[in-house]
Amino acid sequence: MRDAELSRYSRHILLNEIGIEGQQRINAARMLVIGAGGLASPAVLYLAAAGVGTLTLVDDDVVDLTNLQRQIMHDSASVGSPKVLSAHNSAARINPLTHLVALQQRADAVLLDAHVPHADVVLDCTDNFTTRHAINTACVRHRVPLVSGAAVQFDGQVSVFDPRQADCPCYACAFPPHHAPDAIACATMGVFAPVVGVIGCMQAAQALMLVGEFGAPLTGTLLMLDGRSMEWSRIRLPRDPACSVCAPP
Ligand SMILES: [Zn+2]
Repeated sequence: MRDAELSRYSRHILLNEIGIEGQQRINAARMLVIGAGGLASPAVLYLAAAGVGTLTLVDDDVVDLTNLQRQIMHDSASVGSPKVLSAHNSAARINPLTHLVALQQRADAVLLDAHVPHADVVLDCTDNFTTRHAINTACVRHRVPLVSGAAVQFDGQVSVFDPRQADCPCYACAFPPHHAPDAIACATMGVFAPVVGVIGCMQAAQALMLVGEFGAPLTGTLLMLDGRSMEWSRIRLPRDPACSVCAPP
């Protein structure tokens, strides 16, 4: 590690749990971030700042004025531009050492099957159940850990699903596809912006813990935030032996 990198990452290297070895694992890590909105905004900025080796960003949308209340990696000048381009520029300004790949595409099964196998961890920063389930299916198929986050109104939640662990549930065990409500979107429900930021930060923390191999990630646990009272609660998610995605045939 060069002097400039030692300096840049020194406050992480100083932590006993991370050290040089943990930082080197972060620097070598490849992460796939699906969605470039409110959850991804703090996640991408923190992951780039932490020196993640490669960040691949996927989103097919453009920045809208209504996004700016919470999607803090985009700014007024980026309204009308592709979100992945704006995200790329924001992250690159923070850390030119992180290799950034911006894909202005929908995260469909073809894209996910092409990119998930090359990721050490996937962050689901989307806001619709169809894409969430497609991401989960790809992560289970390719045995790549998934950091899932969601926020609507004043409620946030974050969880980690790690298909490398035999007893770990997948997203579909916890949220069966046939029970999924139709798109609950910020467009219709509203969302308290700092709650989105808190959950996005939690996703970055979980992803760094997974690749850096420190701490105790929320694997198989759903952590929930009530943003009205700022109370956190957690439940263990059981594996569903009849899950349509992860149960053995
Ligand atoms: Zn499952």
